[in-house]
Amino acid sequence: PLTAYDVSYFNAYANLEVHEEMLKDRVRTESYRSAIMQHQKFITDKVVIDVGCGTGVLSIFCARAGARRVYAVDASLIANQAKQVVEDNNLSDKVIVLHGRIEVCYSCFLDVEIEETVDVIISEWMGYMLVYESMLESVIFARDKWLKPGGLILPSHASLYMAPVTNSERYHQSIDFWHNVYGIKMSALIPFAKLTAFEEPSVETIKGENVLTWPSLVTEVDCYTVRVQELKTITAKYEFSSMLQAPLHGFAFWFDVEFNGPELPVLNYYYNQLTSGSLSQDQHPHSSGHLRKRPKSEEAVILSTAPEDAPTHWQQTLVYMFDPIQLEEGQIVEGSVTISQREEHSRFLNIRLEFNSGGRSFEKVSVLR
Ligand code: SAH
Repeated sequence: PLTAYDVSYFNAYANLEVHEEMLKDRVRTESYRSAIMQHQKFITDKVVIDVGCGTGVLSIFCARAGARRVYAVDASLIANQAKQVVEDNNLSDKVIVLHGRIEVCYSCFLDVEIEETVDVIISEWMGYMLVYESMLESVIFARDKWLKPGGLILPSHASLYMAPVTNSERYHQSIDFWHNVYGIKMSALIPFAKLTAFEEPSVETIKGENVLTWPSLVTEVDCYTVRVQELKTITAKYEFSSMLQAPLHGFAFWFDVEFNGPELPVLNYYYNQLTSGSLSQDQHPHSSGHLRKRPKSEEAVILSTAPEDAPTHWQQTLVYMFDPIQLEEGQIVEGSVTISQREEHSRFLNIRLEFNSGGRSFEKVSVLR
């Protein structure tokens, strides 16, 4: 059934500004185009479903790469615009735009009819910290219903990372500001300011310099095999050894996705740290571009939202602590993180962070909404 939350979700995507932001994110859009071109041989003469086509951009990339037919599906009214765009680009014979929800949608008048199996599923489903919006479930639904064995899913794999961060500038702007406002002491407002600034996660862009050590893998998703149930709650333990002496302000989350074919082995090229443990200072992640997977082969496309890489509209998701904790170089910070879909509104996320370091322990629960 379609809930009221779904309706407001799809209404949000009827707004052109959202699509403009995504289209202007060149890192995002060009990664998809490169991935499509990388798989052009496979896509040529094949049938594709674009789960959540928006303006139709990815469907048109696929048609131009030689797809025989593309089903461009979107539950939002943006589908009407996509239809026009497809027509204006003379692709109406190849790209079939369907205004509807990919899932079976009893009596909500948004069912889509696709009466053949397909070779390729493409979708831009990633939300903040990868799983916000929970749209991957719709891709899984399409995969299980329509994808032929040996079919291609783009993107194919996703990884979510976390790392401890220092961000004195942010703390200064949001908290220290209240000490002296036009010569007026407003320090009494600081507890309130801390709640306002740090109670919930925030989506913002940080730099490689803010990251205190190698990231930790929170989860990996294989789009060929992942099941909906696995996405309800994601739990991971973390252990960091700070590479710097610095105040710890919180944790950053980001992700990358890969576009591997079904015939390729899964490329597991993690950070050195994940396989070999300790690192020396000159290998600090700031200096060497290691906050994401590194492609084994030249042509592998990786869309990364790591702080050291070109910024994207996903930015990074930050979970700040109310007060910084001074870390020594080499100090161990460990704990766990649990990211779960909220029961009454599955597109929102509960984030529970357990923290232990230098004899201090606490737990922070926040909601990304
Ligand atoms: N593919 C486009 C838009 C991506 S945004 C691009 O790359 O620019 C995701 C789109 O998926 C939104 O337009 C949203 O309305 C649509 N969507 C999300 N869940 C869906 C579902 N279950 N069925 C159909 N469309 C969906």
